[in-house]
Amino acid sequence: MRLRFAPSPTGALHIGGARTALFNWLLARHSGGALVLRIEDTDRERSTPENVEQILDALRWLELDWDEGPLLQTDHSERHREVLAGLLEGGHAYRSGATAEDVKAYKLAHGAEQGFRGEPEAEGAVRLRVPAEGATVVDDVIRGPTSFEHVHMDDPVIARADGSVLYNFAVAIDDLDAGITIVVRGEDHVSNTPKQQLVMEAAAAAGLTSAPLPRYAHLPLLHGPDGKKLSKRHGAASVQELREAGYLPEAVRNYLALLGWGAGDDATVLSTEELIERFTLDRVSRNPARFDEVKLKWLNGVYIRALPVGELTRRVEAFTGREDLGELARISQEKIHTLADFWPLAGALRDGPGDDPKARERWLGPEGLQALADARSALEQAGDFDEAAVGEALAAVVERRAVKPREVYQPLRVALSGGTVSPGIFESVALLGREETLRRIDSALSRA
Ligand code: GLU
Repeated sequence: MRLRFAPSPTGALHIGGARTALFNWLLARHSGGALVLRIEDTDRERSTPENVEQILDALRWLELDWDEGPLLQTDHSERHREVLAGLLEGGHAYRSGATAEDVKAYKLAHGAEQGFRGEPEAEGAVRLRVPAEGATVVDDVIRGPTSFEHVHMDDPVIARADGSVLYNFAVAIDDLDAGITIVVRGEDHVSNTPKQQLVMEAAAAAGLTSAPLPRYAHLPLLHGPDGKKLSKRHGAASVQELREAGYLPEAVRNYLALLGWGAGDDATVLSTEELIERFTLDRVSRNPARFDEVKLKWLNGVYIRALPVGELTRRVEAFTGREDLGELARISQEKIHTLADFWPLAGALRDGPGDDPKARERWLGPEGLQALADARSALEQAGDFDEAAVGEALAAVVERRAVKPREVYQPLRVALSGGTVSPGIFESVALLGREETLRRIDSALSRA
């Protein structure tokens, strides 16, 4: 299999594009084939080096590599001109000055169902001549065959009057020249495919290309959880946003793979190795897939908990830009779903308590302060100060006061972190150590 991912560098890599890249990558790795990366930079205004870099950066973060490229579509312009000239010469294409208005007038005269046919002129845009009879059949690997009757197809414009070629032409020639055997892309391209096949057939008929036509597979649309087309409203929309939201690339790969594809046994947690082994197009659905950030977050939590502590530490250090987070990472691992959850949960243990007046009001009233004072003396007197010893000392306070555990642990948590969230309270106390714990308790007691 020779596959390609062909993004237009018009900004961020969105979730739909990332899924397309992933599916192509998985197929290439599964089949032992090759993945070609082609940057479709024909829109000169928007195809800035920064935008190209943004796409490459997103692919690198997702750890999706490619075997050939990145090729730039604009590097092929000479070849495009040559094929275009050949098509004009062989009568497979013609110049026409017809405007949108002319096309409308044509349809009024010939019926709306009738595909537009222009009169060849000396100048103007280039249109491909759609054969008068027959049909072009797109035999989509996922959706089955669809037949497009030529009589209903307009002669498509394939180049502007200045000779610059349009998307449906450039893509078709580039796919042939790269020897692509299967084009896997989003369903939004379905209506382009017959035009591209016609370009390819014309180029072959004119003797300008010799590669066989690729097959096509159009991936199902992406919806949000509300069943509407995926958009910004549904949360993180680009790979960059997923990264900033603290997701792990391996969890994102796992989740994106499930958007339109499923393992036969409905498994949801699949390592990248398993995905490569099991990924085939016959399990891709035709129905729209739902991107649900809640599920992604859940899955990300599964991956976070499965990381060796050393690896989690490296990730949170890279994410926060802070150092020496090993112990904090260890005691936070069970409580975070994303890397972004980490610092709000545990940062106060490092940087000192924040100040949440609501938390103080709720937990450091007269009862809470008494509980805190009790906890203080228990911790002062505890023999050891490891997690087990701290746990024992605090459990004894709970028992003596005959209250629910949180009536002791929450005041303590507010004293240590300033708020109502922190890693486990025994772990937090043991990590701070006796001196710092007592210091923070004293400071909370003296404030009250
Ligand atoms: N460059 C096109 C896009 O970003 C995709 C082209 C294709 O996959 O054929 O939508």
